[in-house]
Amino acid sequence: MIYANAYVVAMDDAGTEHADGWIEVADGRIAALGAGSPPEGERADLGGALVTPALVNAHHHLYQGLTRARAQEADLFSWLRMLYPLWARIDAEAEYAAARAGLAELALSGCGTVFDHHYVFPRGATGLVEAEVQAARELGVRIVAARGSMDLGASAGGLPPDELVEDPDALLADTEALAVLHEPEPGAWTQIAVAPCSPFSVSKRLMRGSAELARRLGLRLHTHLAETVEEEEYCRGIFGCRPVEYLEQVGWLADDVWCAHCVHLSADDAARLGAAGTGVAHCPTSNLRLGAGVAPVRALLDAGAPIGLGVDGPASNERSDLSLEARQALLVARGRGGPGALTPREALRLATRGGARVLGRDDIGSLEPGRCADLAIWRTDATGFAGADDPVAALVLAAPHRVDRLLVGGEEVVRDGMLVRADERVLTDELRTQARRFAA
Ligand SMILES: [Zn+2]
Repeated sequence: MIYANAYVVAMDDAGTEHADGWIEVADGRIAALGAGSPPEGERADLGGALVTPALVNAHHHLYQGLTRARAQEADLFSWLRMLYPLWARIDAEAEYAAARAGLAELALSGCGTVFDHHYVFPRGATGLVEAEVQAARELGVRIVAARGSMDLGASAGGLPPDELVEDPDALLADTEALAVLHEPEPGAWTQIAVAPCSPFSVSKRLMRGSAELARRLGLRLHTHLAETVEEEEYCRGIFGCRPVEYLEQVGWLADDVWCAHCVHLSADDAARLGAAGTGVAHCPTSNLRLGAGVAPVRALLDAGAPIGLGVDGPASNERSDLSLEARQALLVARGRGGPGALTPREALRLATRGGARVLGRDDIGSLEPGRCADLAIWRTDATGFAGADDPVAALVLAAPHRVDRLLVGGEEVVRDGMLVRADERVLTDELRTQARRFAA
């Protein structure tokens, strides 16, 4: 199929854009793209739409859709203390409903690959990660599902209640068992990451054990880091150092690691992350919602750190829209560093190429021959684009937008702004039904 009459934004190294562009898709891959007259073949006329790589979400907690809009004035630690007891009710049925609705919401915002960090495993609950993977398969999007973990309960000086923490040996064995779902090859639909939750819920031993396991199995490592001032105080109190120093102590300052947030960094911290190639999932809306602060994204980019964007869970960012997150990244960078701090194209790059990079993927995130045919197609005759002579800038500055068409692996996931493989209203009803069990 040749998608013609489009403004194509490749997000390749050269920053190629074709105002009069076309893109040819065959066997789930991009066969060719260019400007001017398209080659012969079956054609879809996009009517001047903007085509970007499908967006990549680098940090999420799909299950939190079950507890949206709670703890409305809380900081991170009090928010967690209010929500942990509710999250302890999770089971596979609830997880599946939350994942379906959450992945659908992201797909409608142009997102074709989602990283989900699931770290709540109540005793006796089974099939939680498998439920997310099933939901992604059914909707037609790619998922990188983390087997998260917590082993440091309140009685041992951690934040979570004791009933929500697991035995480290048992959870690592479960992580290894889930690794059979991991597809290492390009074009993977399902991948598994190893993701102990945070410095205040995970022991040093589990951080080290997770790194050993992930490196033995060839999986990537993820955790939350430097999200709030309270976390920094906690690290100093328990470990005698700052969060980035702690990361180094446990063998995590490396290029197979990416960390969510990284708000409270010194200039030296940012330089160390950049030098090590350790990635960052920047989650500006969540950081604002919890009053945590604003990550130094310009400094991290200048230091060479890989950076993707995360919407984070719907309990700390009630809107899972990655195009909105790109706009938010631009706005907070400018709030911190002035109008030159981040351009619309840089923000879009974070939401596409940057996300792919932190996930360790070079098969998605840009439109180049041989890469996956993961395309987000945005109508430029929509209100937010009207009057703009630069559709790429309008995509970011006038976000959010509902994607018109989303292709993942060349297959339509969204068409005419509607899910192809599911009914949005049914998914929403299913989530609402499950969420009733999570009332405070
Ligand atoms: Zn998070």
